[in-house]
Amino acid sequence: MDATLVQDVVAEVMSRLSGRANFTSPAPRAGEEAEINDSMQPTSGTQVADGKYGIFASVDDAVRAATESQQKLLKLSLDERDQIVKLIKSIANENAHKWGEIEFKETKIGRLDHKIEKLQILSLVPGVEYLKTNAMSGSNGLCIEEFAPFGVIGIITPVTHSVPTLSANAINMIASGNAIVANPHPSGVNCAVIAVREYNRQIAAKFGIEHLITVITPPTLETADAIFAHRGISLLVVTGGPQVARAALRSPKRAIVAGPGNPPVVVDETACLKNAAESIIRGGSYDNNLLCIGEKQVLVVESVYDKLVAALQTAGAAQLTSPQIDKLTKQAFKIGDDNKPHVNKEFVGRDARLLAEAAGASASPACQLAFGETQFDHPFVQEEQMMPFVPLVRCRNVEEAMDKAIESEHGYRHTAIMHSRNLDTITRFGRRAATTLYVVNGASATGLGLGGQGYLSYSIATPTGEGITTPLTFTRYRRVMITGSLRMV
Ligand code: NAD
Repeated sequence: MDATLVQDVVAEVMSRLSGRANFTSPAPRAGEEAEINDSMQPTSGTQVADGKYGIFASVDDAVRAATESQQKLLKLSLDERDQIVKLIKSIANENAHKWGEIEFKETKIGRLDHKIEKLQILSLVPGVEYLKTNAMSGSNGLCIEEFAPFGVIGIITPVTHSVPTLSANAINMIASGNAIVANPHPSGVNCAVIAVREYNRQIAAKFGIEHLITVITPPTLETADAIFAHRGISLLVVTGGPQVARAALRSPKRAIVAGPGNPPVVVDETACLKNAAESIIRGGSYDNNLLCIGEKQVLVVESVYDKLVAALQTAGAAQLTSPQIDKLTKQAFKIGDDNKPHVNKEFVGRDARLLAEAAGASASPACQLAFGETQFDHPFVQEEQMMPFVPLVRCRNVEEAMDKAIESEHGYRHTAIMHSRNLDTITRFGRRAATTLYVVNGASATGLGLGGQGYLSYSIATPTGEGITTPLTFTRYRRVMITGSLRMV
């Protein structure tokens, strides 16, 4: 990384961290009070790097330990590798409530029920079964294509899903024979350490391998840089926002980058508005809109605007008036040195009810999503706000809605959503948006297997093009050609 970039990034990360340090804990949702209690204090405090079960202070030590563990992993059979992957999934499921609480308490963003669910659904992440050997035989012999591990993979994980991202990466990467050195977000490191310590402890007890997943604590920009530069790390996998995505793309090492998004929703005049409203609420409120795939702005055709508003209200979303949106905007965005609005981290991942209160409105504790009309150039439309407030923009027709949707996605090629019954419109928007994930007539979460078909990953590689990552994403393609032999017929 060049010096200017490092300075930019240090400034950005320090400001983000100081923002998070000022958070007041989000109010628990109904029924959550009993679950968040002091009994988890002893396990959720600052975790110390003791060199045991994958927890290291030094990148060199972590790489050394991960390298040894990866060599041991390669000596196991594929069946045993499969058992390790299934063990990780079952540990995550068994600890989902406890770890969800710990992550929620540490990061102070999102929703406890969804933090728990994000760990339970790790069962949807593909494992060893994804590694299929291809074979071709003919007059000239036998050709086999196999998918080999890279070795030790350096990963960077976001605060929005610290344990889920690390766990899903571990499932995919270990399935394909790799070990991991992780630099989590500093605001989500303790929960990551607790989870990794438990994964490694049980893997060591059953398979005699102690450091398949390693975590650096405390993680800093220097340790991230050391991972980027380390000769013992053969691949980088980065999940995060624009700064870290840019840093990884500039790295001389191969990087798989799961970068930011700003998913638009287009609603046309043929859409089922009840389904559209319910889907927007489900996707836009999931973990308080922390997901990179979550509905961030709705471009709706004017002729059905009022009906969509009514459907959103019927489904329980809280409508804010223009003055209320202005009041919320003044708090939810700060004007930066560049004279542009930037998301105020203190509002990221907060409950819809709290956003409504900040706007001077009231919403019931059960309210999951707030919404209201804005102009297209509004910060809530243009910025990846990660809040359960979704702006609605009126458009003359579906052509204008598609144009504005694509413009507001900013070329991230991440996720786009459409509600329509017109196959031609659905096809045209999908082709034009060219996003990695395109969800039609459902909530964004269905695109990752939650109520939809398909598998799950919390790392959707967008600028580098690998898509929703699987074990194959983390493999080297190898071909064995046995010339003139082994053809049996
Ligand atoms: P963030 O960019 O602040 O941090 C992400 C990670 O990068 C953290 O571990 C952070 O410590 C690290 N980091 C930041 N700058 C760095 C640098 N220059 N060098 C090394 N490490 C650096 O993002 P966040 O708030 O933790 O997560 C939210 C962002 O991540 C959103 O933009 C969201 O869209 C994106 N995200 C994308 C995906 C995906 O699959 N594409 C998944 C989850 C989150």
